Amino acid sequence: MHTRMLIDGELIAGAGQALPVFDPALGECIAMVNEASTQQVDAAVAAAERAFASYSRSTPAERSALLLQIAAVVEANAEELAALESRNAGKPWPSPLNDEMPLTVDTFRFFAGAARTLSGVAAGEYVAGHTSLIRRDPLGPIAAIAPWNYPLMMAAWKLAAPLAAGCSVILKPSELTPLSTLRLGELLQDVVPRGLVNIIHGTGATLGDHLVNAAGVEGISITGSPATGAAAMRAAAQQLRQVHLELGGKAPVIVYADADIDTLVATLRGTAFFNAGQDCAQPCRLLVEDSVYERVVTALASAVGSIRTGAQHEDGTQMGPLISEAHCQRVAAFVERAHGSARVVAGGERENRPGFFYRPTVIADVAHDAEIATQEIFGPVITVSRFAAGEDPVAIANAGRYGLASSVWTRDSGRAMDVTSRLRYGFTWVNTHGVATPEMPWAAMKGSGHGCDMSVFALDAYTSVRHVMFAHG
Ligand code: NAD
Repeated sequence: MHTRMLIDGELIAGAGQALPVFDPALGECIAMVNEASTQQVDAAVAAAERAFASYSRSTPAERSALLLQIAAVVEANAEELAALESRNAGKPWPSPLNDEMPLTVDTFRFFAGAARTLSGVAAGEYVAGHTSLIRRDPLGPIAAIAPWNYPLMMAAWKLAAPLAAGCSVILKPSELTPLSTLRLGELLQDVVPRGLVNIIHGTGATLGDHLVNAAGVEGISITGSPATGAAAMRAAAQQLRQVHLELGGKAPVIVYADADIDTLVATLRGTAFFNAGQDCAQPCRLLVEDSVYERVVTALASAVGSIRTGAQHEDGTQMGPLISEAHCQRVAAFVERAHGSARVVAGGERENRPGFFYRPTVIADVAHDAEIATQEIFGPVITVSRFAAGEDPVAIANAGRYGLASSVWTRDSGRAMDVTSRLRYGFTWVNTHGVATPEMPWAAMKGSGHGCDMSVFALDAYTSVRHVMFAHG
């Protein structure tokens, strides 16, 4: 198993302490991986600064070619990378190969194209005797921090856009799931110019913090929890840096009485419990119109109750474990605290087996301001609340701090237009939930962050708009 980091073009063992890496389905340690020392983080940042000096002068066509090469390497090694992901994150096989690798590869391919779309606006004479140009130039070395829920796909989101924009990157995957990203680093050693992509391993509070505060970094890009986003903003405030944040979510699912309930239930059974619910866009907070409320609760309880949990290669497994013991306990505690004030209609307990398994859970009759309706659980738990005909569910949905994903279910297209225009969420699906494509922004608002991953708009976080003026005389 490859456990070395990529720093300045060299594969290097961490000089810091050894951290355990688990198989969450067994609850057993599968590797001890040394984290970087702070000196190694500094070396990675210095390498990224050196690489930036030359790579930022590369042409869009050269960046595009590099991204296509990375895509080809990931695709050629998809099976091995997906197997590492499955083992380290407990994902049912072959889901990471079939459901995650195509988008991971396509992210690099999309940004290979996006690299060639960067342009300023047309030149003009805004002051007599002077010509102005607008340039859009690469920002600088980027400190990129990724979470554990889709380790390699998040690494792709954190790498592809800055590389397309002409930036170098120091990427830190989550200390819980470093294996696929470290292997990617090994695969890229001979593909990317020295120092352009650096991959380090270590905990957030120590090495992540050191990285986002490093003097040579110009931009910070975080996908993670709001607490980590706040830590990055504090670092940026000290060093005056640009920050891009994709943080937690609590996606409302607004269900009107005229919705197609069968499609809704089938979509939720798949999407809300995919990756054991550990998804920032998870459709987890249902707001259902009174007249169809009991029908939705009954159908969901039955559909969700039939989801089969199991280890990666167990026959018929539809949902795997949570990422860690601590996270499993955190999810269980949310449900415990909801008992008494709400109705658990499916699941609501840990599995009686080794590993970090929690039953797919549906909790009904949840008050709009309840903890379980407003805080991100990030596990296989969804809540159902009701609204009366004539009551505006948009006001209820908008009251939360989060602003990432949302969906609206209705056959009335006029109502869907009205509701989507008023929801304060970075993205909203109508009559579906969870469908993603690299062309479209994964956009964050409010407490979920700002800016976006994917789409050409992702390049904004990694470029600076500049004005150049020529005097004619
Ligand atoms: P986390 O914030 O605990 O960790 C994310 C990363 O940040 C890890 O690499 C961690 O080591 C690092 N980190 C932690 N503290 C840090 C600090 N002080 N300075 C620098 N780095 C630090 O999040 P997680 O538990 O790994 O992931 C789950 C969270 O990520 C959820 O809130 C989820 O919604 C969010 N997420 C958001 C998106 C999105 O696109 N908006 C996608 C996936 C996950």
